[in-house]
Amino acid sequence: MKYTWATSTHPGLVRDSNEDAVFPEEDGNSDGDLLVAVADGMGGHAAGEIASAVAIETIASSEAAAAERVREANRAVMGRGEARTDHHGMGTTLTIGLFRPDGTLDVGHAGDSRLYLSRRHELLQVTTDHSLVAEYLATGKITAEETVDHPQRNVITRALGISWDLEVDDHRVNLRPGDRVLLCSDGLTSMISDDEIATILSEQPAPQAAGWALIEAANQAGGEDNITVAIVDVLE
Ligand code: MG
Repeated sequence: MKYTWATSTHPGLVRDSNEDAVFPEEDGNSDGDLLVAVADGMGGHAAGEIASAVAIETIASSEAAAAERVREANRAVMGRGEARTDHHGMGTTLTIGLFRPDGTLDVGHAGDSRLYLSRRHELLQVTTDHSLVAEYLATGKITAEETVDHPQRNVITRALGISWDLEVDDHRVNLRPGDRVLLCSDGLTSMISDDEIATILSEQPAPQAAGWALIEAANQAGGEDNITVAIVDVLE
């Protein structure tokens, strides 16, 4: 399998800073192992930016399996949070994809950043949000429509930096040529719907153009949060 990817991040239209982080920062092509990740940091005094950056640095320098890398990143964020009082309480989401030459994609995930698979113009959300509204939706307490402007839609139930012992989800996807994988922060998915995402992904064949179009659509819808997208196309 060969992969071509593009990543973009944007502060949005409301926030002063960008606490999201993405890996790799450069676009490129690969026929070997490829690591792609999105992190969405939180915490005052720029701590959110540090948390997401520490998480990305940790997974990028690790050789472990996907879920274990997320646990390693959690321990790194915890360590930094305990070392500095002004970084106390910092945290981050983390969603990572390890793309293998044989077409296997291993996903490690905690928080409400997402990984989607777009196959034949069908969009499938591979990860489950660790958020209050996702739990309410799963238990039938609210409807999908009610999640959009729910007052607690920003409350996440799992993130790095909260506890030394983090429960991490893992998923395996067997990729096919023509598949497109999207990783993104909630600055995208809280602004535009899955249908809008699916339309943009199928209208824009180049991953760079698709990424920019997604960010533009989120900003046109209000751009209330930092927006990060990573798109990986499976070539052959
Ligand atoms: Mg966010």
